[in-house]
Amino acid sequence: MSDMKRLALMLKELEEQLTVCMKCGMCQSVCPLFEETGREADVARGKLALLDGLGREMFDDPAGVAERLNRCLLCGSCAANCPSGVRVLDIFIKARAILAGYMGLSPIKRAALRGMLAHPERFDRLVAWGSRFQKYFTRPVNDLVGTSCARFVSPLIGGRHFRPIAETPFHERTPALDTAAGASGLRVAFYVGCLLDKIFPEIAEDVVAVLNHHGVGIYMPEGQACCGIPALSSGDLKTFGALTRRNLERFDPGDFDYLVTACATCTSTIKEMWPLMAGRCGVDKVDGVDKADGVDGVDGGKISAIAAKAMDINQFLVSKLGVGAAPESSAGAAVVTYHDPCHLKKSLKVVAEPRIVIRANPECRLVEMPQSDWCCGLGGSFNLQYYQTSAAIGRRKRDNIRAVDPAVVATGCPACMLQISDALSRAGDRVAVRHPVQLYARTLRA
Ligand code: SF4
Ligand code: SF4
Repeated sequence: MSDMKRLALMLKELEEQLTVCMKCGMCQSVCPLFEETGREADVARGKLALLDGLGREMFDDPAGVAERLNRCLLCGSCAANCPSGVRVLDIFIKARAILAGYMGLSPIKRAALRGMLAHPERFDRLVAWGSRFQKYFTRPVNDLVGTSCARFVSPLIGGRHFRPIAETPFHERTPALDTAAGASGLRVAFYVGCLLDKIFPEIAEDVVAVLNHHGVGIYMPEGQACCGIPALSSGDLKTFGALTRRNLERFDPGDFDYLVTACATCTSTIKEMWPLMAGRCGVDKVDGVDKADGVDGVDGGKISAIAAKAMDINQFLVSKLGVGAAPESSAGAAVVTYHDPCHLKKSLKVVAEPRIVIRANPECRLVEMPQSDWCCGLGGSFNLQYYQTSAAIGRRKRDNIRAVDPAVVATGCPACMLQISDALSRAGDRVAVRHPVQLYARTLRA
């Protein structure tokens, strides 16, 4: 069988979904990338057409198609607004896995994903090393936003303003928890996630404080791994499978009522991507072609049970614990605006709850920014590969934030917090960037 035939056979998995696209072009008006570049190959319709052509053997350029597919924030704005209901993100994720399985990973991605991310203890050691030595090659640049920048010219950091690695990660501050349900009668598993653990441990501490305050039992096992989204979005099913299996070993859905996270991306990965990729993902479906071993041995029933219990912390606080907005904000309350993370609004449809959690603090006056659900432009590894475009999308978010002149911008995703911090700090703005849970936790300390 020729190589192209083999690839076409692997892409057959997507054929049915690809034909759903009626080429209406409605996705153009909501795609933050297309808005920036105006290139058809950057919008969902263009990418789907390229995949369709490759699957039909109309041209022979899998590397070119993979490159176009990678130029995507995976924000889901196209899928959320598609009149035909094309499952764009599912197609893109599966296509990336198929193409990576066919062509192999780049050496850099292989080293980062299989050499590091797949081994949480090794990853922790590397991050701990970075935390110890970051002061020698970075310097604080905006105390209110909490950002640093490169001390010297650095091809790796470039002009980025970033939130530094925490001195002590959350897993060292609080290695594990296993407490019984209190007054609420509920017990949750707390999935921490990499960014809360390594960059924002104070948010994880506030999650624990809030759950304790409401009498919620917490099950938080040691040795949690990444949710796997960096590997999955790079098409690396092997690493994704290893991380999923490791997390499944630590979380038994029979032990808790809900699994909460304070990261929109982790929640949507556990809730939507784990089930999507459970069992198989097309690459291992076709007899005689590349088998993706990454998802072998993953228990689909357990994944479904955990996915059904996974919940964003804001949603949990409002819908299960009855947290509500304060009757009114106090005189002199700080203006707080809210950015809707794509994974929270477009994927999980969580919109009202984070706003209620912010308004639960009477010292906060919520003022909506324009286009609060326009993507911040981070897109995980998109930011690493295409920083100039990512930063240009981030500038639009920054302008929308500044339009309401807030003291604080809140958002329910630590990845968005990184991007918004960069955009604000580079513009010289002095706006604090917080998670809604942090604002709510303040009311418990008052
Ligand atoms: S993906 Fe949806 S919105 Fe975009 S062209 Fe196809 S049918 Fe239209
Ligand atoms: S996921 Fe986002 S960036 Fe990618 S094509 Fe859809 S709207 Fe554009």
